[in-house]
Amino acid sequence: MKIYIDGKFYDKDDAKISVFDHGVLYGDGIFEGIRAYNGRIFRLDDHLKRLAESANAILLKLPLPVKEIEKAILETVQLNGLRDAYIRLVVTRGVGDLGLDMRKCKAGATLFIIADRIELYPEEFYEKGLTVITSTIRQKGLDQVTPGVKSLNYLANILARAEATAAGAQEAILLNATGHVSECSGDNIFYIKDGKIFTPPTSAGILVGVTRNVVMELCEKKLGVKVIERNFPRYDLYGADEVFLTGTGAEVIAAVKIDGRIIGKGAAGATTKTLIKHFRDYANSAEAGTPVYEAVKAK
Ligand SMILES: *Cc1c(COP(=O)(O)O)cnc(C)c1O
Repeated sequence: MKIYIDGKFYDKDDAKISVFDHGVLYGDGIFEGIRAYNGRIFRLDDHLKRLAESANAILLKLPLPVKEIEKAILETVQLNGLRDAYIRLVVTRGVGDLGLDMRKCKAGATLFIIADRIELYPEEFYEKGLTVITSTIRQKGLDQVTPGVKSLNYLANILARAEATAAGAQEAILLNATGHVSECSGDNIFYIKDGKIFTPPTSAGILVGVTRNVVMELCEKKLGVKVIERNFPRYDLYGADEVFLTGTGAEVIAAVKIDGRIIGKGAAGATTKTLIKHFRDYANSAEAGTPVYEAVKAK
């Protein structure tokens, strides 16, 4: 495995950054989780746009122009010979002193890229669905560092996931300060009721997922249903016909048990299954991604 750090490639064991990097000292930085399907990087432009917006929001100057970052991603996937991959792109504040002052990080941001094989939920979970709990941890408020920034400060999400694990569940829902559903620890959330599809709006405090946006497009184009963005309490999930989660890693996956309540028939519902298929078809199609290898021809 070859890992990209600031313009050079390193073997896995030699891929290291400084202990004075503020990404390590303070979680001061941002990231993207990106997938490649069949030799194409899925919605790369969307990920790069979100990266640039996250960087702007935390006053971080990207170490390279976005076009150069794109090239580095393509090179990393190429060099590792991957066609289907999970790509982790991280930009930290860089090396500073032990204080908080970002001006001391004089050399500028550190950028690294790891391209690895994908680790997914086992295929059976796409049939039988996930068990989910509501976390005791609240989503960050809109008046705090906004949940819309894909930041390295992931502790709330990690602790929420640990609560899920302790409860024998796979995912955890985070409510926001007003008690509305925001998202899960690493996935956005949707529910279906009487043919209508709902998801929390950005004002609920969510990370606006690339997968979420693609699924909203697919609902409209393939199912003829426009997703309704609105605030809702977890009570609405308990009575839903179907609940599903979306994210780069999980793609589209049903939640069939929430806080001990069985959702719908207790397995992935018909609409969720249809969406899983539409999503996979689209993800593997030529229009969904940026080609990595010259040999990849448009279908
Ligand atoms: C990355 C992430 C998501 C999902 O976003 P995708 O772009 O679809 O992968 C959802 N919630 C959180 C907290 C995230 O960090």
